[in-house]
Amino acid sequence: MLYLGALILLAILAALTLKRVLRESLFKKEEHLKNLESEYAVLSEEKSRLKKDNLDIEGTVNETIALYNITKDICKTLDEKKIFSIFRERLNDYIKIGDCRFLDKDADLSFYAGSTIFPLVIQKDTIGYLIASQIQEEDKERFQILAQQFLIGIKRALLYKKMQELAITDSLTQLFSRRHFLDRFGEELNRSRKFKYNFSFLMVDIDKFKEFNDKYGHLVGDAILREVSRTIKETIRQIDFVGRYGGEELSIILVETGKEQARFAAERLRQAVEAQNIRVYDEELKVTISIGIATFSRGRETVEKLIESADKALYVAKQTGRNKVCVYAPE
Ligand code: GH3
Ligand code: MG
Ligand code: MG
Repeated sequence: MLYLGALILLAILAALTLKRVLRESLFKKEEHLKNLESEYAVLSEEKSRLKKDNLDIEGTVNETIALYNITKDICKTLDEKKIFSIFRERLNDYIKIGDCRFLDKDADLSFYAGSTIFPLVIQKDTIGYLIASQIQEEDKERFQILAQQFLIGIKRALLYKKMQELAITDSLTQLFSRRHFLDRFGEELNRSRKFKYNFSFLMVDIDKFKEFNDKYGHLVGDAILREVSRTIKETIRQIDFVGRYGGEELSIILVETGKEQARFAAERLRQAVEAQNIRVYDEELKVTISIGIATFSRGRETVEKLIESADKALYVAKQTGRNKVCVYAPE
């Protein structure tokens, strides 16, 4: 009996011990689970932070690429108006905007009171303004960055223009640049006035040049311009000088040359160009020129007046059939 009682007691003790061990083990597991849960929460937080960082990085990369693209496109041209049209077109890809304008420095800004105004400043000089309306608050900084790229494009264009102006020789035709020609024109006028010489000013324009450009392309047009310039330079005397007045217009000073001699010399130029066979790439082309003449003969004419008169004579040559020389005759 005693033996049985001891056995039961032992069994109870064993059951109690087992229960305690089991409870402890369960407790440890619960503890472990709690730890895992809190680690999971930390990791989830980390994950969403990384996701957000990734999005931010992606946004920055996209913006950098966008900025690079707009800068690259703007740098393709040296024409201010084209730079603006590229800027205007691309701007819409990146930010929402109402209207955007490129105004010159004398524009009345009071019309644009509610708009974002970006002054275009080059070496302390304001050369114009970029005006943009309805920019969202969060896009304002982006607009400033893009406008900065536009300004860089405009700076390049202006620098190029200045370089062209300062150059003595025109790079395409190797004739005097317009500015240098006009300087020499002024000097010649003063000299002729002082010594009572006369001289003649010729304005030369290639006939129907646009048609050549349209038919054969600009490169062929350029080659024609080069060849006509070469013929003219070879045909005039060494003391005379010729410049590229603009586009396909050339200007010539025939030193110490009166009206009739000038008509004769111009006729020779016209014939020389007419007789020329211009070989460009696989084409053999022929072009003609028209010439307007104004002569400095009374000592009172100015550079401006002579240009105006030669222009009028050139206009008559064009109106009356082209491939022609006309001398200015005051009404
Ligand atoms: P017109 O007989 O009345 O003078 O006709 P046109 O076609 O020659 O006259 P217009 O002034 O209408 O056209 C001149 C053209 O010259 C327009 C312009 O595209 C072209 N041009 C101006 N500068 C250059 C240049 O440097 N290279 C080339 N290829 N074309 C030029
Ligand atoms: Mg012309
Ligand atoms: Mg022409």
